[in-house]
Amino acid sequence: MSRVVPYLDESPLAADVLSHARITFTDLDGTLLGLGGSVLIDATGAPALTTVNAIVDVNRAGLDVVVCTGRNRIQTGEVSRILGWDSFIAELGCIVMYDRRKPAQYLLGEWPAGVLLADETPHQAMTRYGALRVLTETFPGKIEEHEPWHTDREVTHVLRGSIDRTIAQEALDTLEVPIAIIDNGIIHPPRHTLVDVDEIHVYHLVPRGTSKERAIRVLLERRGITPADAVAIGDSATDVEMMGATALGVLVCNALRDPKVLAATEGLDTIVATRGERGDGWAEFAHAWLAAMRLSSPTPRARRA
Ligand SMILES: [Mg+2]
Repeated sequence: MSRVVPYLDESPLAADVLSHARITFTDLDGTLLGLGGSVLIDATGAPALTTVNAIVDVNRAGLDVVVCTGRNRIQTGEVSRILGWDSFIAELGCIVMYDRRKPAQYLLGEWPAGVLLADETPHQAMTRYGALRVLTETFPGKIEEHEPWHTDREVTHVLRGSIDRTIAQEALDTLEVPIAIIDNGIIHPPRHTLVDVDEIHVYHLVPRGTSKERAIRVLLERRGITPADAVAIGDSATDVEMMGATALGVLVCNALRDPKVLAATEGLDTIVATRGERGDGWAEFAHAWLAAMRLSSPTPRARRA
């Protein structure tokens, strides 16, 4: 481990930012949700209300939470609805929903205007421009769609396989539209049809120039909130990237076991870690936020003045 990320409860910066933070962007898997994607368990996987109680406390206080995830719009909208939150960011920052009842805004990075046919989604355009074809031709048997998570996507493709990311990017760079491939880490799918692979990674194909960070900046601007009043919490290297758009970044402590996360935090002094893992860490963060807000809230006398 090259450097130590300070703990949330020991950080003066965290106490200061949380005392006036108005909004938190949260990752889902490995952060708010425990193993298997449940919010009703603790970090060990045992049934627990720790995270749910923290969510209720945050909602009661009227604080704003926005899910920011690689999941698709339908899944993210359902999760947000169940948890009582209105806005969300899906598909790694390519879909921004200011209000989950209204139409989506697509963020397409460097894609020029006019790349989409009438009624075509960016996801369909990526297929039409040959993104999947060049990858399966370059790596026969080594990459495939990440079934069942590949359905109902509107912008990004989610794939699994065992490939050289640099060579894959070179293959994508031959296409007419700029598409980036992101390695989102090792997975253990219960079944797949890949041939002779031992370590399987999940990959996302995204329009070049898109990111969770950019989507957060767009949403904050639309809401009239500055990054100084925003926090992000997550567990992966792409989450560290989104923390660049907020005054404080919080890693749930399971993130610290990932060397890619630690490498991503190099040189950043606005990142802290919880002591608890996954949903327990999220609850720890929520309670720190509520405590800091209470300490800084004006007295009833000051409020009347
Ligand atoms: Mg995650």
